[in-house]
Amino acid sequence: MHMFDIDKLTIMVPGAVREILKTLHDAGYEAYIVGGCVRDAILGLEPKDWDITTSALPEQVKSLFSNTVDTGIQHGTVMVIKYGIGYEVTTYRIDGDYKDGRHPENVTFTRSLAEDLKRRDFTINAFAYSPEKGVVDMFDGLEDLDNRLIRCVGDPNARFSEDALRIMRAVRFSAQLSFKIETVTLAAIGRHVQNLSNVSMERIRVEFEKTLLSDHPEKAGQYASLGMGRFIVPDEALVKKCFDDEIADCYHKISGTDEEKKVLRLAAFFHNLTAEETKRALKLMKYDNRTIKLVSGIIQFKDKNVEAEKSAVKKALHKQGEELFALVLRYRELILNIPADEIRTILKQIMDAEEPYEISHLAVSGTDLIEAGIPKGELVGETLNMLLNQVIDNPDLNHREVLLGLIAKQRG
Ligand code: ATP
Ligand code: MG
Repeated sequence: MHMFDIDKLTIMVPGAVREILKTLHDAGYEAYIVGGCVRDAILGLEPKDWDITTSALPEQVKSLFSNTVDTGIQHGTVMVIKYGIGYEVTTYRIDGDYKDGRHPENVTFTRSLAEDLKRRDFTINAFAYSPEKGVVDMFDGLEDLDNRLIRCVGDPNARFSEDALRIMRAVRFSAQLSFKIETVTLAAIGRHVQNLSNVSMERIRVEFEKTLLSDHPEKAGQYASLGMGRFIVPDEALVKKCFDDEIADCYHKISGTDEEKKVLRLAAFFHNLTAEETKRALKLMKYDNRTIKLVSGIIQFKDKNVEAEKSAVKKALHKQGEELFALVLRYRELILNIPADEIRTILKQIMDAEEPYEISHLAVSGTDLIEAGIPKGELVGETLNMLLNQVIDNPDLNHREVLLGLIAKQRG
């Protein structure tokens, strides 16, 4: 007898989703919510999205709803829009051969829910539910939920040969849910790690990132212990310095917005690399320029001490920029245990008083300097920097006449 009694499980399905199920039902088709949303709802977690699976063919789905978008019609997916929100409705399907271990050569639509559930990766991802039929649990997923286990649907060796991304997903779900990977599935992972060479960096990265952002980010260590590290950071010398267990125990301290969490946890992951190495690693991982800039910036400045004093803080702000400065402060506080409150107080004073710390804050521009007789070229920039240094030390100087006076005096 397990904790989740299949006969007593009722899921609070949102109204819009209920309507979609009913419309399909009334037209004579089968329809269920399926996959991650059923898993999360049973666990008492808030589902991220509500996916629907149906015996209706894509064209039949489209004919039943006034507002649909063809988001993945070749795979049988139609997005139905209800009250401004999109819900993916996918026709029951069987995945064809995975010739390259990457994506199915073709998909075949089927009238059998069982066939559709069989193609799914893990038992806890293979539930269907409808208000009439309750939970459909063909692979003892409820028992695995109860025992907190990630287990493949069917033969793990076959499933990982079809699509090696499932290896990454196993670790990802184990981190998100704090589940263990069941032993037979775990053994098969060991045998199929090599197949990850057929999976694109983009797909690998998505799973790695979800692991790093999960509530148990330390479980990312499994990637290294299971031999997957070099598929995540595809450079032998760099990956050796990542996956530091001691740092991994600090990942969970990093909270904030999704982006703050992402860049700070990535920086922690690259803690033992130089800024240049971090850039190289992130490029290999096909990260966007903004992420590369912020993460390598955190690494570049994390070990630079800033005096708790206005001029020093303004100079650091000038060098790092406001956004990076705040991130570096957080990083030092959370990962290096360096108190940041004193600097934050000074930072607030600078911001509240709108004290200048950038060239653009100066009361004179490059054009002003040229008009004042400074020849076009490098000297303009040098002079602006010289003025900024003086203004950083003494904000009272930041007036047009005063600054032009300073230049006149210097030029003798
Ligand atoms: P999340 O909460 O991250 O959205 P999820 O379980 O919904 O988790 P998705 O990646 O959105 O995961 O996929 C939806 C469902 O599709 C899964 O629950 C699973 O049933 C199936 N699925 C997704 N990817 C695979 C795959 N590579 N192999 C087999 N089944 C998969
Ligand atoms: Mg999902």
